[in-house]
Amino acid sequence: SASAGTPSSSAAPGGVPVAVLGSANADLVVTVGRAPGAGETVSGHGFTTTVGGKGLNQAVAAARAGARVRMVATVGDDVHGRLLRDTLAREGVDTDALRVHPGLPTGTAHITVEDDGENRIVVVPGANAATGAHPDDLRALRDRPPRVLLLQLEIPVPAVVAAARAVAPSGTRVVLTPAPVPRGGLPGDLLGQVDLLVPNQHEACALAGTGDLAEAVRWLLRRVPEVVVTLGARGCLHATRDGGHTVVPAVPVTAVDTTGAGDVFAGVLAVALAEGSPVDGALRRATAAAALSVTRSGAAASAPRRDEIDRAVRPAAPAGRA
Ligand code: AMP
Repeated sequence: SASAGTPSSSAAPGGVPVAVLGSANADLVVTVGRAPGAGETVSGHGFTTTVGGKGLNQAVAAARAGARVRMVATVGDDVHGRLLRDTLAREGVDTDALRVHPGLPTGTAHITVEDDGENRIVVVPGANAATGAHPDDLRALRDRPPRVLLLQLEIPVPAVVAAARAVAPSGTRVVLTPAPVPRGGLPGDLLGQVDLLVPNQHEACALAGTGDLAEAVRWLLRRVPEVVVTLGARGCLHATRDGGHTVVPAVPVTAVDTTGAGDVFAGVLAVALAEGSPVDGALRRATAAAALSVTRSGAAASAPRRDEIDRAVRPAAPAGRA
């Protein structure tokens, strides 16, 4: 129906306030016929530097979806840190709470892609490891509380817990993408602070310690009130503690690059919920946006803009109908 989804007219001027506390990386991507073995040197045939990190990807996706986004993150005093700041600013993301750590390098992901598509990735967290450690990071959230706070786990978990606690008195909705899942699982005090958990299928099962998705969802719902499990090309599953279950199928597309699809999904879902959209409409927007993103290469770069999402959610609406 025309009432589902989020009409553009419901957006607050300048967008609803959304904050992201998390990672920001420079992705250094080398393409090579075959990766070298130990002690070996080979010649690569391509090199690109792109922006990444789940935090930054979600911030860009949310900004393009129409929210007023603040990014709380830490970079080094180096060329990669300046690249990340410039990129966020160009995307309209508020960088006032993007802190420069004088003694650590900006986080980097060193990615080797072989001709057969095989990947090898070394992530150096660098300044990301300091996010949440400075009082300014949490003050940024307390002083101007967002409608929704988006969190992931590429920064130290205690910082994620502290951020969720910092916004608790202000009624902010806390949305967590539990990736990567820490080896020892999540501390119980984190899930207790989360309003909506958005894992993929592997993360849901890893957190619950089971291979059975239905069992994993039941385990998660004992700890958080609401879960959306993303299922790749199969769409997503929404489940609430009161027993509601819905599967939203993915939009069929030809996937070119699924990198960052989960971050686009989480960022767009958060914006729609922050705008007060009912959950079914918010899920359809997130699903449509993630489908658009997998048809293009890149992570943050592939996130669609608000008008594209609007068109994808209501493809049949004749022109002029709101
Ligand atoms: P994932 O992180 O792989 O579970 O993907 C996140 C979301 O992106 C899914 O819930 C889908 O909405 C969307 N998505 C991922 N892969 C595809 C695909 N091949 N085709 C369409 N949508 C996709």
